[in-house]
Amino acid sequence: MTGLPPVTCDSLLAQISAYLDGDLNGSACAAIEHHAASCAACGRVIEDFRRTTGLCRTAATAPLPADVRARARARVLELLKRR
Ligand SMILES: [Zn+2]
Repeated sequence: MTGLPPVTCDSLLAQISAYLDGDLNGSACAAIEHHAASCAACGRVIEDFRRTTGLCRTAATAPLPADVRARARARVLELLKRR
């Protein structure tokens, strides 16, 4: 029991925005990983982040390169549009 609200696809994408702004804390990151593990669509997004940025390891310690951020944001927007 963590007391955290369940992560949905929409909230995960919203939190990715926070992550891209360097504003994601450790427990939010863990909740995202938990959801991504059981959701194929989000898992692919997270997997891409892991490869390029090291989600949950570099969060809030190093700003992402602008091109990585732009690419990730475009990906998130594309996913939101599909809903
Ligand atoms: Zn999802």
